Amino acid sequence: MIGGGIIGTSTAFALAEKGIDVVLCEKGEIGAEQSGRNWGWCRTQGRDPREIALSLEAMRMWRGLNGRIEGDTGFRADGLVYLCNNETDVARNEAWLEQARIYQVDARMLSGAEVAKLLPGATRSWVGGLYSPSAGRAEPQKAAPAIATGARRLGATILTNCAVRGIETAAGRISGVVTERGRIACDSVVLAGGAWSRLLCGNHDIDFPQLKVRGSVMRTAPVDGMPLPAVAGPGFSFRRRLDGGYSVANRGASIAEIVPDSFRQFFRYMPALRSQWNDLRFRFGDRFATEWRTPRRWHLDAVTPFEQVRILDPEPDRKSLDQAHANLSAAFPAFAGTKVVERWAGLIDVTPDVIPVIGPIPAIPGFYLASGFSGHGFGIGPAAGRLMADLVAGDTPIIDPKPLRFERFSDGSPTIIH
Ligand SMILES: Cc1cc2nc3c(=O)[nH]c(=O)nc-3n(C[C@H](O)[C@H](O)[C@H](O)COP(=O)(O)OP(=O)(O)OC[C@H]3O[C@@H](n4cnc5c(N)ncnc54)[C@H](O)[C@@H]3O)c2cc1C
Repeated sequence: MIGGGIIGTSTAFALAEKGIDVVLCEKGEIGAEQSGRNWGWCRTQGRDPREIALSLEAMRMWRGLNGRIEGDTGFRADGLVYLCNNETDVARNEAWLEQARIYQVDARMLSGAEVAKLLPGATRSWVGGLYSPSAGRAEPQKAAPAIATGARRLGATILTNCAVRGIETAAGRISGVVTERGRIACDSVVLAGGAWSRLLCGNHDIDFPQLKVRGSVMRTAPVDGMPLPAVAGPGFSFRRRLDGGYSVANRGASIAEIVPDSFRQFFRYMPALRSQWNDLRFRFGDRFATEWRTPRRWHLDAVTPFEQVRILDPEPDRKSLDQAHANLSAAFPAFAGTKVVERWAGLIDVTPDVIPVIGPIPAIPGFYLASGFSGHGFGIGPAAGRLMADLVAGDTPIIDPKPLRFERFSDGSPTIIH
């Protein structure tokens, strides 16, 4: 396994449960990049139809995960509401519900009065809301480390501060990985490198399309008098934390940093740009120079970019967080004057069709990719790991993996954005 985020640790756990020998190499610390920096939502609602079956599996797994890993992910099924500001929002959420009906998802539309009852304390009314009572949240800083500990208990080896420099092949198939501490012989390698997967693939002539978007979050001191469900509203989103504080973000204010890869992959991302235009802010900043200077080719016997940046720790966008706090306080005065305890950001890896790859890379037998989770990989993580482990083990996969295959980017399939 390459990468110790929610995907790498969940895959390692599922492989260890199957009795397969597994070594996980993480260049920094477990769950220190996206998986430890996200909002913590675990949901089916609003997902791309190609992810719904997997997310339903994930929701089932979250509920029993603490027992299986003998640890605590902080999971709570307290529900999630998407607030509708106007009839357009209602129509969009109803359209999703219609598409998702065949999966028997646990979600329904609420009237404005039902929203007011579910979320008392608001200064204004809402036209309605899409509500899923069984959706929930886990604690990002706890989940991946707890799953890694569970995998270790089942016999997996978890190595931190151990970057993988690249893969090795013999007779055309995987024979090992080269790490900064030496070589590990193996038959299969799963790359779950989050925002780094494209770079590692590129050194082996594999073109994995991936761009990065910066999302900022903050957490507050404990707030009294707020209901338990997580909420997405116009210009804010929030969810309760185990410590009684709230993680708060500005929904629809992610920053797409313009980098050399933006130009290299421009045409592939045109459909995504068109559909997500209103939710993105484009910036030309330091990251352009950083990525320009980052080598794209290297030999496996020398220091690689993975050893030079142990943990991606981008600057949070303070302005958009302050705006989220103001928007939230205006809608729910319980948040007014609440102390902000911490602000942070994470680089989200996004594919052109905004869904991940979970599957083999056909050009190199034994090489698998589980990456590109496009801002929604935390909640789906346990099932994504299970699916990846099924594919590596040659077992019947928990869902049909075809829509998530790597080849969709090169076999002439149209780029579909939902
Ligand atoms: C602000 C924000 C909010 C989000 N909110 C949600 C949410 O509410 N719900 C949700 O479902 N998702 C959410 N997401 C998305 C979610 O966090 C990600 O999709 C998910 O964590 C991806 O997990 P991962 O394991 O693929 O990647 P990561 O967590 O980024 O892990 C990849 C790991 O691989 C390691 N690595 C990379 N290259 C190498 C190498 N060569 N050798 C060794 N190690 C390597 C990295 O150090 C890193 O630890 C959010 C993301 C952000 C940033």
